[in-house]
Amino acid sequence: MEQITRRTLLGRLGAAAGAGVLASRGAAAAGGRPRNFVVVFCDDLGYGDLGCYGNGQIKTPRLDALAAAGVRFTDFCSAAPVCSPSRAALLTGRYPVRSGITRVLFPQSENGLPESERTIAEVLKGRGYATACIGKWHLGHLPPFLPMNHGFDYYFGLPYSNDMEKNQRGDPPLPLMRNGKIVEQPADQTALTRRYTEEAVAFIERSKDRPFFLYVPHSMPHVPIHCGEAFRGKSAGGAYGDVIEEIDWSVGRIVDALAAAGVAKHTLVVFTSDNGPWTHYKEHGGSPGPLRGQKGTTFEGGMREPGIFYWPGRLTPRVEPAFASTLDLLPTFAALAGVDLPEGVTLDGRDLTPLLLEETPPPEREFFYFLADDLQAVRRGDWKYKRPFKGKVYGEPLEHGALLFNLREDPGERNNLADAHPETVAALEARLAAFEKTDWRTP
Ligand code: MG
Repeated sequence: MEQITRRTLLGRLGAAAGAGVLASRGAAAAGGRPRNFVVVFCDDLGYGDLGCYGNGQIKTPRLDALAAAGVRFTDFCSAAPVCSPSRAALLTGRYPVRSGITRVLFPQSENGLPESERTIAEVLKGRGYATACIGKWHLGHLPPFLPMNHGFDYYFGLPYSNDMEKNQRGDPPLPLMRNGKIVEQPADQTALTRRYTEEAVAFIERSKDRPFFLYVPHSMPHVPIHCGEAFRGKSAGGAYGDVIEEIDWSVGRIVDALAAAGVAKHTLVVFTSDNGPWTHYKEHGGSPGPLRGQKGTTFEGGMREPGIFYWPGRLTPRVEPAFASTLDLLPTFAALAGVDLPEGVTLDGRDLTPLLLEETPPPEREFFYFLADDLQAVRRGDWKYKRPFKGKVYGEPLEHGALLFNLREDPGERNNLADAHPETVAALEARLAAFEKTDWRTP
């Protein structure tokens, strides 16, 4: 017979209490039903492109309604100013330097998100979630790197960006894939937003009796911009506005499908984008609103995004000024699903549930801004320090010295306070130097 010592008894009691905490955390709300998660992730959408973020021309009534009924973040950042690394960060909760996906992948790339990375889909699958990726993947188009090998049961969409069909580079015609197979080539780009939406709705309908995670990384509004016939020429915001208004329609269709399936109250919907607008493309690119910079820069315009969280009956409607990031989705979903975080993995995101559900102000945190492997800036509280830079952004020269901004007072990063606060500059530069000394590539 097993001898029960005081230590093993205490250990068992502790384990039982721990399991109880996990179970209650996972099933507390919504009558014990597991929560579903829907992430709509645009491509190159600007901070200023939606009505609820101040755009006066582009009409986004469905997104505005979600924002009004949910939590609209003012300071929500993606974790990279370009496509592939931003996606790696969202799905893993880790800065892109940790997975090594620090640059945009091309049709010639032979790499992808390493198998060792644990994605949101894999974390949730441990609790029986149905998972789908419907849209642009861009974390490796070769078979070992496709969504099916990163925890997704179902995949429909483009394996990389919609502009990656350049003859001079030797790109093949743009492939549209279902699971591991090409189903159309070249893909009809005018139909992408509609087809992604139909696929997303069908996934909700067939998954409504299970917990599910639906990831919808739209191909739009990345150039070349396209929309369906029904939206062409309709927006006061021009061709770009047409594209955003179709995305707004798409979000409305998805939310309506959740309601029709009877799962809206059990589903957290998150809407954001991978990086800021490509203003280089003028009227075919978006707007950073009041922010400085664009895609490819670590100014706020390159990385701060619309961040809308919608969960009817669970979130107190408000405009939320606390900082948050796409890095936070994995730990937040894990907490809400009652699943353990991946073991032995350095996560950079934070669990947002105390902020989202109880409005508990989060402890002060640091957020690092990378361009590829180059650590360029850090935010701590309202301060953002940006290292001197000299280089080019999409062919345009960019040069500046050390920059220090108070983002609460000056979100547009116009008023450089570096000379006025040298001690803050020194302290934040020391934080960058210290972070650079850590081994990013260890798990
Ligand atoms: Mg992008």
